[in-house]
Amino acid sequence: MDICVVGSGYVGLVTGACLADFGMTVVGVDKDADKIAALQRGEIPIYEPGLAPLVARNVAAGRLSFTTELAPALEAATAVFIAVGTPPLPDGSADLRFVREVAESIAAHLNGYKIIVTKSTVPIGTGQMIEETVRAGAGAGAEFAVVSNPEFLREGSAIRDFVRPDRVVIGSRDERAVELMLDIYSPLRVADVPFVITDVESAELIKYASNAFLATKISFINEVAALCEELGADVETVAYGMGLDSRIGPQFLHPGPGFGGSCFPKDTRAVVEIARGRGLDFRIVEAVLAVNDATRERMVDKVERALGELAGKTLGVLGLSFKPDTDDVRESPAIAVARGLIERGARLRVHDPEAMAPARRELADLESIEYCADPYAAAEGVDALVILTEWNQFRALDLARLRRLMRAPVVIDLRNVYEPAKMAAAGFRYLSVGRAEAAAG
Ligand code: NAD
Repeated sequence: MDICVVGSGYVGLVTGACLADFGMTVVGVDKDADKIAALQRGEIPIYEPGLAPLVARNVAAGRLSFTTELAPALEAATAVFIAVGTPPLPDGSADLRFVREVAESIAAHLNGYKIIVTKSTVPIGTGQMIEETVRAGAGAGAEFAVVSNPEFLREGSAIRDFVRPDRVVIGSRDERAVELMLDIYSPLRVADVPFVITDVESAELIKYASNAFLATKISFINEVAALCEELGADVETVAYGMGLDSRIGPQFLHPGPGFGGSCFPKDTRAVVEIARGRGLDFRIVEAVLAVNDATRERMVDKVERALGELAGKTLGVLGLSFKPDTDDVRESPAIAVARGLIERGARLRVHDPEAMAPARRELADLESIEYCADPYAAAEGVDALVILTEWNQFRALDLARLRRLMRAPVVIDLRNVYEPAKMAAAGFRYLSVGRAEAAAG
């Protein structure tokens, strides 16, 4: 089947490469000419483990290509996947400008029955909007069906998540469209992945409700961590004990500087706005967002409390991406905390294994940052080292070497990467989240 994927960002690129690997003929489209030129040269514009060889293999097999020309790709396709961005507007609701743009282009080039599949995360009612936009542009007799197929992949494990998802959600009123979707995903059906076949609105809400729930778990454990610090309890043990309850589960119970990335902050804000638009207060999710803001602030306070006045101090910062295994810094809590530390007068020496270039752009307005080639360079002469993203590269640092490089042996680990006793034994004053401070042994 010929497939057109509109938008070649994290979701579109992974979707296109994986569908090509399922045997489909896929054209990836993007209006960003530089991105497409890079892809045509065989360069992958984002860091995502396993994506480069997957793209290369399918391009070489003639199943995957990239273009900025939407019209021919649309005309050749039976299924058009929309994977463009849906960034937040100032009021928190999703900006559907790009989705609407694509729907208008589809209407202009509709040349026979097609399914229009929304992969982007879109508010409830967007399927209806796409249907009306295409109908208005293509005429009353136009043959097409709108499908909601929200994406649940996580950056850093996107390919595994796409090919072995916990579920595939398909929302459509059109039986033929559902059959085509089941064909496209047949490799997942034979692998016994559960399929949820439903209406468009329920499919759209499954995505928002899932992300809001996961964000709730994170804010919840972050508040438990704050309580642990006051009570002298250990949040790691508390989370472990909670997670063993099969009704709760162990995932998303890791305390830290709050959630970030391109999805959780945006989708939680959007779901609050969606509810508000219907005259409802989604009070839990509103609290989840407030806790997340407070958590970031609390981390900056924690560093200041540990070190005293930050003006005149130099801190090493390890990690800038919003989580490991991605170069994505969108709404990264690491960036927010780094910014907060600078605002209180600190100078930073920062390192991230993959996100240095996007972080430089994000923090371009700040002067008190030195970008360092590796963790040891970031530690040189600093008053403390702050771990902000739990990259595996930071889990086995040469502690003796670090200690020699630092002006003062203080590690503030906001991702609980290390064991307090080990750090104390290695001669560090060690502070982490939701656990007692450990003093150099
Ligand atoms: P992204 O910003 O990385 O990519 C979007 C791409 O769409 C960009 O390359 C942009 O140039 C392109 N684009 C915009 N308008 C276009 C148009 N009219 N024609 C062609 N290309 C156009 O975004 P992303 O992270 O891939 O997210 C896409 C959607 O998927 C969002 O709705 C997001 O919420 C959702 N989502 C993201 C993730 C994730 O982890 N990133 C996971 C699940 C769902």
